[in-house]
Amino acid sequence: MKVVICGLGAGGLHAALTIRKRNKDAEITFIDRKDFDMLHPCGLPYVLEGTVDSFEKLKHTLPDMGFTKILRHEAFRLIPGEHRIETRDLTTGQIASVNYDKLIIATGSSAVIPPIPGAQELLWKGVFIVDSYESTFKLSEFVKGKRAAIVVGAGAIGLETAHALRMRGLSVTVIEMLPCAFAKSLDQDMAGILQEYLIAKGIGLQFGAKLERIEGTDFVTGAVVSGTVMPCDLVILAAGVRSNTAYVKDSGVAFGKWGIQVNERMQTNVPDVYAIGDCVQVHSLIDQRDWMMQLAVAAYKQGIVAGANIAGIDRTYKGALTTFASKIGELEIAATGFTSGFVEGAISGKATGLTKPEWCHGGKELTVKVIADPKTKRIVGGQAIGYAGASERINIISAAIKGKSTMLDLSETEMAYCPALSDTYDVLMQAADNCLRKMER
Ligand SMILES: Cc1cc2nc3c(=O)[nH]c(=O)nc-3n(C[C@H](O)[C@H](O)[C@H](O)COP(=O)(O)OP(=O)(O)OC[C@H]3O[C@@H](n4cnc5c(N)ncnc54)[C@H](O)[C@@H]3O)c2cc1C
Repeated sequence: MKVVICGLGAGGLHAALTIRKRNKDAEITFIDRKDFDMLHPCGLPYVLEGTVDSFEKLKHTLPDMGFTKILRHEAFRLIPGEHRIETRDLTTGQIASVNYDKLIIATGSSAVIPPIPGAQELLWKGVFIVDSYESTFKLSEFVKGKRAAIVVGAGAIGLETAHALRMRGLSVTVIEMLPCAFAKSLDQDMAGILQEYLIAKGIGLQFGAKLERIEGTDFVTGAVVSGTVMPCDLVILAAGVRSNTAYVKDSGVAFGKWGIQVNERMQTNVPDVYAIGDCVQVHSLIDQRDWMMQLAVAAYKQGIVAGANIAGIDRTYKGALTTFASKIGELEIAATGFTSGFVEGAISGKATGLTKPEWCHGGKELTVKVIADPKTKRIVGGQAIGYAGASERINIISAAIKGKSTMLDLSETEMAYCPALSDTYDVLMQAADNCLRKMER
């Protein structure tokens, strides 16, 4: 069996490993634009900041598992009728063909460059994106000796980058069209905790603000934000990503609002063509609505599902909760499921406390919010921000949502206690009980 995987990233790799574990003889070929095997993109802002030593540390060479790797080539055109994909050599421009029995579209996404004056013209001359080794390396070199940056977008990549630039000594302002940080994942009260922290770190924040133009001739000199000129040396565009799927546009592969449409087995509408990761539209695990989850945790799971099905094992991907975590300075931010705004009449409970008893050394402040649907009593969302333990609590909530637990089920969950590690009445349990009390009224 000849399997061709377009994209050697989180999803593509896990699809290949899953196939190889079940089928030693499968011919697995990767096509990728990079000239090296794997990159861990989630580490890019942390190299910029200095928390991770070097960009080289994010590169990873695969052990020999009999994969064929066509690197520094891009998937150029999919011709499903002939079970064939054209590749383009990025050095010579030469077009070649690769045949497949099964094909996986796993080419991820790239940062969106908005169609505003100056964005394309000044790219790499003060305008930067953080979506690859090259783009972030260039940014890291350019930053040296610069004074002021505007970061467009208050999601994870924007805020992690803003913090990194602040740590590198720049004056930084984040502008965001939505009303708060992580607006798609956090309620405004929870985002407020993060925003206070960022302001205390000296990072400026402007919400409801729109980037209109980037100014400069040879290099960026400023940006026009909601009608006001803001002088700066750098503009970082972190306001969304777009899937790398141009090569399948005319192939008959069906797209939905958020990406390529797939079924639970990660199959597209075209026979023998699968799609995974940032390229696909998913369903919400809570209510099955069309959803988007462009995160590594979804990509690898979908890769396993696609790989298993190709290897003849029936596996399904049932939906996404967009569970995420980020660390900005000392602060952990994590969330899963719906925010309050997504659920009619949502009932929430919130608690703030320490991760260990106050008499025990090392407890860190943590705030947890849980959200329930009043009709079903089920837990549908969770958010946590603090100096430790946020992602652990969110992982518990994610499992609870997956298991269709009610808020009472969550409140009854048994959690381990040892004062050196945790408190008897955990902040998560306090939040759940606060929510339950409101539901019982
Ligand atoms: C700065 C940054 C930080 C992030 N932090 C987190 C995080 O903390 N947690 C998290 O869960 N997610 C995070 N993400 C998102 C996560 O990296 C992606 O969701 C995940 O990598 C998607 O996996 P994928 O397999 O779909 O694509 P990728 O892992 O992006 O792999 C796609 C591959 O396809 C290649 N490619 C693209 N176009 C073509 C083409 N036409 N032909 C051939 N090859 C092509 C690319 O070179 C790449 O190697 C972050 C992303 C970035 C950029």
